[in-house]
Amino acid sequence: MREAVVIIGAGQAGASVAQRLRALGYQGRVALLGAEPHPPYQRPPLSKKYLAAEWTRERLWLKPPTFWADSDIELHLGTEVRSVDPYARTVAAGDEVLRWDKLVFATGARPRPWPPGFAGKRHVYELRNIADVDKLRDAFGAGRHMLVVGGGFVGLETAAVAASHGLSVTVVERADRILERAVGEEVSTFLRRLHEGQGVRVMEGVTIAKVLGNGEFKGVQMTNGDVVTADSALVGIGVEPDVDLARAAGISTDNGIVVDAFGRTSHPDIWAAGDCAQFPFAGGAIRLESVQNAVDQAEAVAADVVGAGQPYVPVPWFWSDQYDAKLQIAGFARQVDQTVSLRTARGEAHWRFSQGTLVAVEAINDARAFMAARKLMEQGIAVQPEMLTRDGFDARALLV
Ligand code: NAP
Repeated sequence: MREAVVIIGAGQAGASVAQRLRALGYQGRVALLGAEPHPPYQRPPLSKKYLAAEWTRERLWLKPPTFWADSDIELHLGTEVRSVDPYARTVAAGDEVLRWDKLVFATGARPRPWPPGFAGKRHVYELRNIADVDKLRDAFGAGRHMLVVGGGFVGLETAAVAASHGLSVTVVERADRILERAVGEEVSTFLRRLHEGQGVRVMEGVTIAKVLGNGEFKGVQMTNGDVVTADSALVGIGVEPDVDLARAAGISTDNGIVVDAFGRTSHPDIWAAGDCAQFPFAGGAIRLESVQNAVDQAEAVAADVVGAGQPYVPVPWFWSDQYDAKLQIAGFARQVDQTVSLRTARGEAHWRFSQGTLVAVEAINDARAFMAARKLMEQGIAVQPEMLTRDGFDARALLV
C-alpha cells in the first residue's frame, strides 16, 4: 500500500508541509485536511487589504485552485477532524476515517475566549478567518463607532482600516502599552501617536468592568468609571494554540504541541508545525505566531518526514501595515537590556540587545535596516551597540 502522510490543518503551515513534501520528491499519498470551506489562503491580508475590501477573496488563495490536484495533494475542505488514533494510525474526519503512516499537526491557533459580557451580543466580532472578516464588514460605515478590545496586531490593523473608512474608533488595551508583548516602548509610542493622529482614541492600562447593552452591544464601562459608547466591538485579545486533538491523542502538550528542533512530537511518526507548535529556542521553548514560522517550520518538518531533517533554528520575522506605516521586526526580543535607536529621513530602527548581543530589530518604514539586521542575525555576524552610533554606520557593509 502507498505510504500516506495526513496533515491536519490547511492553513499556511499545513499547505507548506504538503507543497514541500512534493518538492522533495515524496511519492506517497498526501492528504491535507481543512475545517474551512476555502482552499489554503494567506491570513495576513485579512486584517489589512481584505478587510478594506481592496482584495477579492480569490486573491487570498495561496495557490491557484487547480494546483493541489495537479500536485497530487488531496485537499479535504470543510472537514473537521474529530479524533486521532495514534495506535491504529487513523484520523476520523467528517464521515471518513483516513489511515496514515505519518501525521502532521498544523492545527494553528484560535482566538482566546471573549471576556465576560461580550458573548451573545449582536455586533461583537473577532478576526481570525475569512468568515470573520466578511461578518466584521457589516460594522463598517462612516460615522459609526467601533470599540477595539486589545491593542495587538489584529486590534491595531483593524483600527487603522476602520479609521480610514470614517469610523470613529477607540482601542482599549489592558497592558501598560499597545503591542507590549511584541515590541519595545519606542514602537508602541510611535504607533499610539500614529493612531491618535488619525483620530483613534487609544486607552492603555485599562480594564473593562462591564459590557453595556441588552442583546445589542452598546459600549463598555471601564473599572475607572469611564464609559465608551460604541455600536460594534472587535475583540482581538490574542490566540491560544489549538492542541485539543493532540492532547486527546496522548501527545505531549504545554503552551502548544511540544516538538523538538526537527518538529517531532512525543510520538515517533507525528510532527507539528506553525502556530500550534512549541519548539526549543535559545535555551528555552517558544511558540511563534507568524507566517515566517509557519512556512519555515513546515518545510523543516517536511524534510524530516522524508528523512532529510535539519534542526530548525529560526531568526523570526514579522511585519504589520497600519495606515502608511510598515513595521518590520527581525529577531525575538528577549531579556533586552539596551536599545539603540537610529532615525533617518526614511524612518526609524530600534536595535535591541541582550548582554551585548543583538536579539531583535524593530524598524518602521526602514526596510533597509530590517533586511540588513535580519541577514546579520541569520549569518551570525556580531554587531556591537557602539558600532551603530559611529558616523556613517551602514549595517549592509557588515554583510559578507
Ligand atoms: P496579540 O497580538 O497577542 O494581541 C492581543 C492584545 O490584546 C495583547 O496586547 C493583550 O494584552 C491584549 N488583551 C488581552 N486581553 C485583553 C482584554 N481583556 N482587554 C484588553 N486587552 C486585552 O493578538 P491578536 O492581535 O489578537 O492577534 C492574534 C494573532 O494573529 C496573533 O498570533 C498575531 O500575531 C496574529 N496577527 C499578526 C499580524 C501581524 O503580524 N501583522 C496581524 C494580524 C494578526 P496581554 O499581553 O496583557 O494579554
